[in-house]
Amino acid sequence: MADPEDKNEENIAGKFYVDTQCIDCDLCRETAPNNFTRSDDEGYSYVYKQPENDEEEAQCREAMEGCPVEAIGDDGE
Ligand code: SF4
Repeated sequence: MADPEDKNEENIAGKFYVDTQCIDCDLCRETAPNNFTRSDDEGYSYVYKQPENDEEEAQCREAMEGCPVEAIGDDGE
């Protein structure tokens, strides 16, 4: 389970985030490309935009459920 105390610093404020467990597998960026991107310097993903419609919300949720190391969190705010 993702740890809200351990977020990657690039995450934009809001409910979805990626924490430091990310192994840079690319799944979230493929699943929700409007919301997740890669830090090329650090080699991990982060949320650069929170979902703004139902489709993006569903894609973020799918990414969260599919992440192999449970590095994506939803703090529900
Ligand atoms: S799906 Fe999980 S492990 Fe893979 S890049 Fe995204 S946050 Fe990282």
